[in-house]
Amino acid sequence: MGGRRFEGPSDLHLHSLRSDGTEPPEGVVQSAHRHGLRTIALTDHDTTAGWAEAAQATSSLGMTLIPGMELSAKHEWRSVHVLAYLFDPDDAALRAEMDRIRDDRVGRAERIVRNISRDYDLTWDDVVAQTSHGATVGRPHIADALVARGLVRDRSEAFDSILHPREGYYEPHYAPGPETAVRLVVAAGGVPIIAHPTPAGRGRMLPVSVIERLIALGLAGFEIDHRENTADGKRLLRDIAARHDLIVTGSSDYHGLGKPNLPGENTTSDEMVARIIERGSGTSPVRA
Ligand code: AMP
Ligand code: FE
Ligand code: FE
Ligand code: ZN
Repeated sequence: MGGRRFEGPSDLHLHSLRSDGTEPPEGVVQSAHRHGLRTIALTDHDTTAGWAEAAQATSSLGMTLIPGMELSAKHEWRSVHVLAYLFDPDDAALRAEMDRIRDDRVGRAERIVRNISRDYDLTWDDVVAQTSHGATVGRPHIADALVARGLVRDRSEAFDSILHPREGYYEPHYAPGPETAVRLVVAAGGVPIIAHPTPAGRGRMLPVSVIERLIALGLAGFEIDHRENTADGKRLLRDIAARHDLIVTGSSDYHGLGKPNLPGENTTSDEMVARIIERGSGTSPVRA
C-alpha cells in the first residue's frame, strides 16, 4: 500500500523466443532496459512460458514486469489479437484454449509448408530448425526458414511474398471468437485489450457493433499507439474509449530482429498502467 507501484516509461507488448520474437525472455528484458524502459509486459502469442525467465531478468535490473500474453482470436476471416494482462496462468479454461490454439498452429504450419514445398525447396525440418523448443509456432518461423534457404531476404519480404494469403499457400489456424477470448481472460482475472485494433486495409477493423459487444463482456481497452494503426482508426477508437471510459495503451510489439519495431517506440501512460494493475486480479505485477 502507498508508494510507487511501478515506474515508467512502460511498454506493454513485447515478444520473445517463446513465440515469434528472436531473443530469449532475458534478452528481451535487456533490450527494453537499454531503450530506457522501466516497466514492460512480455506478451508472447498464446503462451506464458516466458514469464518466469522474464521476471528474473526484470527483478535483477530493477524493472517491473506485468505478466501478459497475446491471445489469438478471429472474427470471420479477420485475425484479432487480444492482449491479456495479469490473468491467472493456471486458469483451466483459459489454459485449455491456449493449448488448443498452440497445438493447432503446428498442424497449420505443416500444411502451409506442404503447400509451399510444391513450388519451393522447403521442408518441415527447415522450420523446426528455426523454432525454439516449445515455442508457439507461426508464420514468422516459416519466414525464417525461407530466409535460411535463401528464398527471401528477411521476414518482411517473406510476409509480402510467399506467406501472403494472395500467393495461395496460406492456411488458417484454430482460434476462438473475440467474445470467447475476452470472456476467458476476464474469467481468469485478466485485463483484455485489443492489440493493433485498426490496421490498414478495408474492413480489417472489427465492426463497431462487435466492439460494443466485447465492451459489454468486459473488454478493458485498445492498444491505440501502435505503428500498424491508421490515424482515422485511432480517432474512432479514442472516441469509443472516452465514451466507455476504457483503457488506452501504446506499445512497440517488439519481436527482436524479426520486425523493425523497437522497444519504447510507443509507450503507455502511468495512469493507464495503474488502471491495468488495479483491474487485474489473476496474478500480480513482479516488482524489483
Ligand atoms: P501467424 O499468427 O502465424 O499467422 O503469424 C502472424 C505473426 O507474424 C504476427 O504475430 C506478427 O508478429 C508476424 N508478422 C506479421 N507481419 C510481419 C512482417 N511483415 N514481418 C515480420 N513479422 C510479421
Ligand atoms: Fe508476433
Ligand atoms: Fe499481434
Ligand atoms: Zn504482438
